[in-house]
Amino acid sequence: MTPEILTPHADRTPEELEAAYPARDLPAGAAVTRFGPSPTGFVHIGGLYTALISRRLARQTGGVFFLRIEDTDKKREVAGAEDLIISSLHDWGLEADEGNFAHGEVRGSHGPYRQSERKAIYQSVVRRLLEQGHAYPCFASAEELQALREQQQALKIPPGYYGKWAIWRDKDPAEAEAALAAGKPFVIRLRSPASGPDKVTLPDVVRGDLVLDTNRQDAVLLKADGMPTYHLAHVVDDHLMRTTHVIRGHEWLSSYPLHAQIFDLLGWERPHFAHISPIEKMDGSSRRKLSKRKDPEASVEYYLEQGYPRDAVIEYLINLADGRFEDWRKENPAADALTYPLELDRMNRSGALFDGDKLDSISRELIGSMDDAAVYAAVSDWAHRHDPAFALLLDAEPAYSTAILGIERHGERVRKDIAHWAQVPADISCFFDPAYGVLEPQARELLASLEPAPPAALLAEIAAGYDPALSRDEWLEWLRAIGERHGYAQSMKIYKADKEAWRGHFGDMAAALRIVLTARRNTPDLCEIMQVMGADRVRSRIEAAAGWL
Ligand code: GLU
Repeated sequence: MTPEILTPHADRTPEELEAAYPARDLPAGAAVTRFGPSPTGFVHIGGLYTALISRRLARQTGGVFFLRIEDTDKKREVAGAEDLIISSLHDWGLEADEGNFAHGEVRGSHGPYRQSERKAIYQSVVRRLLEQGHAYPCFASAEELQALREQQQALKIPPGYYGKWAIWRDKDPAEAEAALAAGKPFVIRLRSPASGPDKVTLPDVVRGDLVLDTNRQDAVLLKADGMPTYHLAHVVDDHLMRTTHVIRGHEWLSSYPLHAQIFDLLGWERPHFAHISPIEKMDGSSRRKLSKRKDPEASVEYYLEQGYPRDAVIEYLINLADGRFEDWRKENPAADALTYPLELDRMNRSGALFDGDKLDSISRELIGSMDDAAVYAAVSDWAHRHDPAFALLLDAEPAYSTAILGIERHGERVRKDIAHWAQVPADISCFFDPAYGVLEPQARELLASLEPAPPAALLAEIAAGYDPALSRDEWLEWLRAIGERHGYAQSMKIYKADKEAWRGHFGDMAAALRIVLTARRNTPDLCEIMQVMGADRVRSRIEAAAGWL
């Protein structure tokens, strides 16, 4: 049987391919890395993590980072998934140098970058493997393969298509001709060069030398539809695209020996491999991989919906990859996390443990360091995408919104309680009159439950006299004096000395004011809140509340 019939799409020799995709003209030591997601409609945080590491390596060595869409499995493909991948990389600041971009743009000299467009390339390479006897067609049906598996199970031997179980491996070519003539579907398999169980030592940049089981399986290279399996596509693409470092999830570790065999049979130099530990989480007392099905935080969409600032997530992921990042951060407090010099051989070898609290604390610090205008821009951007009703409130009063977001963000004590923007609507909606209107019953209820209840005359006096121009000290003095006239001791100490003599203490009065102004018991600094709300708003809210009593 001629290899031509089995690889009808082949259009070049491997030598012509070599010439068409020459070694890249890059300085010594420059790394060429890639991100190879499958368009399944879901960008896993682990994918972003791998992309981040790959891009970082390319960037810091003056190399190239490219995006390759691994779409050979049409059954798993989801419409719009490629756009989602492209926009995710963009949104996270991890845009590729080469590959497919928005609006159908393609950049780079080593494409096409979509595997579905590389059929002729794969078949050209497989044709050579067939010619050299390193591959062969296999016409085994699903039933026959199932029967093999059952026999192997009964004999308690390793399952698979290998050695004498590889029924088409050494068949008379005439039988293959007959099967082909009968129109039977076929796949092309590798003729594994391993004759028996053995070990092979393969290098890994993160993990050092690995001793792994040699591959004995006659793995499928081309599927019945003429498209490659991951194994073949990975080898062909990473060779012809001149990848120097294959950085991928550690789930590919077990097929690394197979990939090494294919590289070797083709006479191609193997790239460096770095198998990255998956991101895991604690589930009770055991660790498990973040699951697409069970964990919302497995999807990068989650972080966008929750409104984590991009830089916080990126910083968190770098932190996860490399424990030494924290020391670097201390020495370079203002530097962009994406300039951190990552070293693959010093990365965490064991699984990276996802820690939401750590992410929150990184994010709180970052948000605490942003200026008011940046916070407003980020909150507004988030709200427009994820909370349109809240966006309307912001849009109606941008200056007021910015001032609200600036509360307790200046001076010595900067608030660090916001970890992501989805927290903000609940935190500040009360400042806006339309939202306060909705919250008013809650304010009434809280006020009614206060013990001691504030006298209406106290509220009236505050409403009448409030002046936002008062400094904090003047404001305190003013408010304390009013309180004292209505039975609130100026301090806890005074109150405790003679509880019977007082209605309550300053804190009780402040609690009432908080409720009246914000419909909440706990708020940031009351003096600042009143200043930001302004005299009119403060007056009208307090006057209204005086009427409830
Ligand atoms: N498409 C593969 C995946 O999503 C890519 C693995 C690799 O980077 O080689 O797992």
